Amino acid sequence: MSTRLSGGADGPDALRPLLEQVLAGLRAGAERRAGPIPAGRPEELAEQVAEQVAGHLAAQSAGQAPAAFAAEPDALARLTEFLAHGSADPADPACAAHLHCPPLAVAVAADLAVSALNPSLDSWDQAPVATSLETALLAELAALVGFDPAEAAGVLTSGGTESNLMGLMLARDQVLAAEVELDGLPAGVRPRILASQAAHFSVQRAAALLGLGERAVRAVPVDRELRMDPAALAEALADTVREGGTPIAVVATAGTTDTGAVDPLHTAADLAAEYGAWLHVDAAYGGGALLSDRLAPLLDGIARADSVSLDWHKLGWQPAAAGVFLVRRARTYASLARRAVYLNPADDERAGYPSLLGLSLRTTRRADAFKIAVTLRTLGRAGLGRLVDSCHDLALGAADTVRREPALELHCAPVLTTVVFRYLPASGDPAAADRCNAELRRALLRAGRAVVGRTELPGEGPGRVRLKLTLLNPHTTGEQVAALLAEVVRAGRAVERGEEWAEGE
Ligand SMILES: *Cc1c(COP(=O)(O)O)cnc(C)c1O
Repeated sequence: MSTRLSGGADGPDALRPLLEQVLAGLRAGAERRAGPIPAGRPEELAEQVAEQVAGHLAAQSAGQAPAAFAAEPDALARLTEFLAHGSADPADPACAAHLHCPPLAVAVAADLAVSALNPSLDSWDQAPVATSLETALLAELAALVGFDPAEAAGVLTSGGTESNLMGLMLARDQVLAAEVELDGLPAGVRPRILASQAAHFSVQRAAALLGLGERAVRAVPVDRELRMDPAALAEALADTVREGGTPIAVVATAGTTDTGAVDPLHTAADLAAEYGAWLHVDAAYGGGALLSDRLAPLLDGIARADSVSLDWHKLGWQPAAAGVFLVRRARTYASLARRAVYLNPADDERAGYPSLLGLSLRTTRRADAFKIAVTLRTLGRAGLGRLVDSCHDLALGAADTVRREPALELHCAPVLTTVVFRYLPASGDPAAADRCNAELRRALLRAGRAVVGRTELPGEGPGRVRLKLTLLNPHTTGEQVAALLAEVVRAGRAVERGEEWAEGE
């Protein structure tokens, strides 16, 4: 039974009873959890894992070598319930910390088809329709961004981290116009990347991986909303050149992870052009605004980017991974092209077999485009746009609630779907406020009551710790968000009184 395969005409019959077990386990686990996250400390949950997974196997195979783990036919049902119980569930209205979306059921069902068939996009003969479908979806997404689909190109990625790496890699290769891929960096060149203080940390990581060093990234100051200061960008570029550096890329963030701020895209495009630098727009979060008529104008100017990151596993309601990388001009992809004689031989290509191999950093690659294509066909841009607007409305409502609550302080008006704020303890000491906010968030986690984000504003010194709601559940109501904020206030009071927040209270 358990060695049956998922594909072929009989695959569905093999899957059906197993899916029944999975669905029953999901329900039982969620009912037992009855909240956004299981109550308890990390070590308590780790102990349960040891018992349920490792310990269970060890008990069955006592006295035998570990390789002889005993078979357990009902492992799927048992472990699915265990996983569901032990998950932070973004479908719960009180789970609102990260850009961690509750996936649409239709997207998950589509992804099941992909798992069952297992197409791999490194060669056409492993993925005939999936290959063309990814190309077609990317043309549609290029048009959404405002690129000419006939000129543009792209690929599905693991997310913004990989997309940012690809954007900066192409920037390096294009701007330095040298055979960096073959010879490494040319001598004497000091490549520099300009990104705001609030840009995603993967920009620094990418610079390190590309052999430029993390210090090649110059942090441009931001305003209170964490939006890049356009005058500061101009100044930073001028300074870079004066100091003998070569600005290879300007990274503009369209939707910072914390505040959703959108950097000044037109100014970034003008300045990048003036200095011969590549413009990469990191729209991993804010790209979802393109789905909404109300919010799309925030991203005006994104079509001037050389490359763009979009994440459909954030404001797109897809199960991870659903990252998208796009370039405005397909020819700028040249340095990534690869020929592997067993995957994309030249004679196959001449005979009309397309290959996506040279568009990705990866080889084996899942058909993540399929769930996005199914979701777009099912709901249309307008249907997805309504989900974006619902989450934006929730953020505006949450900000109003914070403004009316004297124990809370709003950091800035929401831009997309996040709200940054803090609890104000009676003591006005900034370090005490930081400790109180950090501790109240952990108290809510321990009690299994709420999953609230925690971040720090850029700068130095105490008083910068903030809480954050990332509202990505379009079915959450304003009342539920108000109740979550009331829970934050209650936890803050308990922490101030030095009480442990009673579990399951
Ligand atoms: C989430 C995020 C990333 C990283 O994306 P992953 O999909 O997690 O790799 C990059 N940039 C921004 C602005 C993000 O919000």
